[in-house]
Amino acid sequence: MQITKIETFLVDASAPTGWKTRNWLFVKVETDEGITGYGEASGWPRVVETAIHDLTAVLVGEDPRRIERLWQKMLLAMMGHGMTGIVGAGAMTGIEIALWDILGKSLGVPVCALLGGRLRDRIRVYGHAGDVERAQELVGRGYTALKCSSLTTPVQLIHDVRRAVGDGVDLMCDPHGAPWYTVADAIRVGQALRDYDLLFYEDPVAPENLDNLAKVAAAVPDVPISAGERNGTIYGFREMIERDIVDVVHPDTGRAGGLMQMKKIAAHAESHGITMAPHDGSNGPIAEAAALHLLAAIPNYLILEHLADDVPQRYTVATNFEVVDSHIAVPTAPGLGIELDEAVCRAHPGNANVIFPSEATLDATYVHPRANRGRLWAVRG
Ligand SMILES: [Mg+2]
Repeated sequence: MQITKIETFLVDASAPTGWKTRNWLFVKVETDEGITGYGEASGWPRVVETAIHDLTAVLVGEDPRRIERLWQKMLLAMMGHGMTGIVGAGAMTGIEIALWDILGKSLGVPVCALLGGRLRDRIRVYGHAGDVERAQELVGRGYTALKCSSLTTPVQLIHDVRRAVGDGVDLMCDPHGAPWYTVADAIRVGQALRDYDLLFYEDPVAPENLDNLAKVAAAVPDVPISAGERNGTIYGFREMIERDIVDVVHPDTGRAGGLMQMKKIAAHAESHGITMAPHDGSNGPIAEAAALHLLAAIPNYLILEHLADDVPQRYTVATNFEVVDSHIAVPTAPGLGIELDEAVCRAHPGNANVIFPSEATLDATYVHPRANRGRLWAVRG
């Protein structure tokens, strides 16, 4: 079997209000035996799309079933561009996931069977709640875990949601590694979060400085810390795992380097008693399908991120996975078990590529007075 063609689909996934610069990048790998594989790549989708087109030349004619060989070939092909990072890793991810889809289809087995076999038939997912009303709505729909993100009043939000939904729902707090959070801020927030028994406290400080993250983790040892959505490949996760800084790694399935890299990261984490909860908020349905197969096959899975209500094209662009009792069933069809509707892709062409932070946002976040920072950890009512 040989790779004959690689095609990409940049699909608009932006919300009319809110996240206006979101795109999904789907990848289609075709073979001379008529088997087609689909993958998904993010990391900076329009840049990643160009990287995939560049890599196509070194992959056409190769046997798509030799996945590790082709991953290493792509790594070498991009070596001259500097460290791999999440753009290079994103390009390799989209192609590599499609190779697993091809391998599974060629053998008539689901991808999880190739990653060690399924340990479980369904994967627990969590939704997002930015206020109490949304939290109650999602719990009413069966969600048993919620991420509650506020950049300005994170502890107040967790307090209000915990009081509204009770102790039977797992909660997570994600300040998004905001660059204006100092170590002292993150520690104060972490200390205030101790009372709410979180599943994890995600990216409490910007991920660029692991020593800062280590200081936060050391100051709140009883609050599980997670990080990793902006990191790629085993090398991007090595230090946070080896230094036992985090309790949970959350690589993004669309840009961490591919399913074999995710499996290797999970194994490294497993040896340190660290669990995995992949980041998925920016991804579309193909990366989600890939995550379902991976999490079915690793012992140290914790939970998977899921957008409970996404843009309308989410539900028509590919096979939809239903959430039942806060779980998604692991697909059983050969390969990833998902089909892409290319007509829907073409009907929603991708557009914007970066966000435009307002001057007000920049001012308010970087230079607001120390006296105002107390709202980060304040709890009233
Ligand atoms: Mg996050």
